[in-house]
Amino acid sequence: MELADIDTIAPKGFLDPDEGRALFELARQASARGPILEIGGYCGKSTLYLGMACKVNRGILYSVDHHRGSEEQQPGQPYFDPELYDPLQSRVDTFRFFRRAVEEAGLEDTVVPIVAASRVAARMWSTALAMVFIDGGHTYEAAFDDYVSWSGLLMPGGILAVHDIFLDPSEGGQAPRFVYSLALASGLYEELPMVKTLGVLRRRGPGQVPPEVSSRRDW
Ligand code: MG
Repeated sequence: MELADIDTIAPKGFLDPDEGRALFELARQASARGPILEIGGYCGKSTLYLGMACKVNRGILYSVDHHRGSEEQQPGQPYFDPELYDPLQSRVDTFRFFRRAVEEAGLEDTVVPIVAASRVAARMWSTALAMVFIDGGHTYEAAFDDYVSWSGLLMPGGILAVHDIFLDPSEGGQAPRFVYSLALASGLYEELPMVKTLGVLRRRGPGQVPPEVSSRRDW
């Protein structure tokens, strides 16, 4: 499978191809060092970019999503997609689409789906992560939760990528930008070039953190 095929296998989603390719490149390096975790797998588009990169290194991508759709994807909300609504359950269910995309892409030995809320999946988690991609709910509560739940598990040199950073508030909600700014202000991360709305930070190692921030947590 080529990266160009991803939009065919996983047509639903809100990830620009340039952002997808950037995720692939970041994940190709990171997955050689340890597992990658994404929050917000949705119908699998970002999962395929990240997963293909992990497969190169026989790595693992954990993909966390409750698969009930985020706040703005519920019936009556602006991003509601009737195809994702399961009338038998009377709920949004994106896992059917996610699973099919992962199977079609041949990534079943690479992607480990975790069908749970991010904060629940994180509660007992202790495995260090080489890369975390935050692309979950866009409320301040959800974005903040994702950030505090996972960023502290990044290994030194690990990548924290945050999707949907809009510098102009008229283009989109500001919660992802808020957590990106929090991370930057902590002094624990080095800023890498942004790709469209994809913010990228690299976790500093113990020797690279200025003394005044070395005892800080991420939030
Ligand atoms: Mg997004």
